[in-house]
Amino acid sequence: MKINSNFDNLVPNYLFAEVAKRTNEFISKNPDKKVIKLGIGDVTLPLAPVVVEAMKKGADELGNKETFKGYPDYEGYEFVRQAVADYYKSFGVKVGADEIFISDGAKSDCGNIGDIFGADNTVLVTDPVYPVYVDSNIMAGRKIIYADSNEENGFAAMPDESVKADIIYLCSPNNPTGSAYTYDSLKKWVDYANKNDAVILYDAAYEAFITEDIPRSIFAVEGARTCAIEMCSLSKTAGFTGTRCGYTVIPKELERDGHNIYKLWYRRQATKFNGVSWPVQCAAEAVFSEKGQKQIKENISYYQENARIISSAMDELGIYYTGGKNSPYIWLKCPNGMGSWEFFDYLLENANVVGTPGEGFGNNGAGYFRLTSFGDRENTIEAVERIKKLLKK
Ligand code: PLP
Repeated sequence: MKINSNFDNLVPNYLFAEVAKRTNEFISKNPDKKVIKLGIGDVTLPLAPVVVEAMKKGADELGNKETFKGYPDYEGYEFVRQAVADYYKSFGVKVGADEIFISDGAKSDCGNIGDIFGADNTVLVTDPVYPVYVDSNIMAGRKIIYADSNEENGFAAMPDESVKADIIYLCSPNNPTGSAYTYDSLKKWVDYANKNDAVILYDAAYEAFITEDIPRSIFAVEGARTCAIEMCSLSKTAGFTGTRCGYTVIPKELERDGHNIYKLWYRRQATKFNGVSWPVQCAAEAVFSEKGQKQIKENISYYQENARIISSAMDELGIYYTGGKNSPYIWLKCPNGMGSWEFFDYLLENANVVGTPGEGFGNNGAGYFRLTSFGDRENTIEAVERIKKLLKK
């Protein structure tokens, strides 16, 4: 037998392992030092009370013969899909409940969606990039090309008319750069995709962090319904990183190569996915209730304030950065021309603060660094004070 030899083409990603290794070595050599981690991409605040209540009620229902539920619908229960559609409506975007698939998260959907596309398509990702887009397509044997995100475009890559791509991954607000597309810039990608018969896979996992008048969904842009699929997640929106729930939107009119994309994805999900558990779908519905929205916004505001604290320190220090405004991530230029890992060590040793070296997200990340706002307030303030003291010297 043979394994899928495309796996031989994966580049080992040592980023988080190396971060952990260097951090642990430092801690064991310096047990008296308090190390603060601003590298984490996971949430730290608990689920909203109304969400927990709904999940408990759902669990109780499973324990009763009258209310027991077996396999859910492949695309998710109608009342959850309707709640998602109503949520889109709340910011002025019209999508049908029958265009939504409830899933166990955006990572699975971003990775699995490739099942419906041919192996000979060219995939475009922006660099730096969330590694899932790259690795899942290497596993499928697809050719990957890169669009540069850099200081010139505010770390939000734009399409190049001379390049032909078939599948385009966009993430806005972006992980890791925190940059977010405006209506005008996103329209350029939509126009490019429609002109080139390409499909945009739009990852909106961080849309809940948007504060300015920029698109919360690619479907807020004219023309997107004929070229885009949108993935979103409750992970960062409502603290579901461990609970697991997300959704994917596929407009019914999206067609490629003589096929209806919604139908292909339905067939794929019906074959390989048996849905999200009843208590979790109940919890997801609660996120979109009036009370749920109020409660999750309190948590998001907490992270946003952390992001503001970190960004204003960068402003004070005169350090170039993107993000922090519509995003939980602050993507900064390492001071004094330092490399990403050089700055990592410098910050760890001298401020006892841990961040994430940018080059782990792609070539264009070299010389940049990611801080996150998912930590607790006190630690964020203390870390920022230490960074200011160190870099003001
Ligand atoms: N998409 C992006 C851009 C992310 O940064 C993450 C998590 O870090 C995910 C998707 C994963 O989402 P989920 O937890 O729903 O799988």
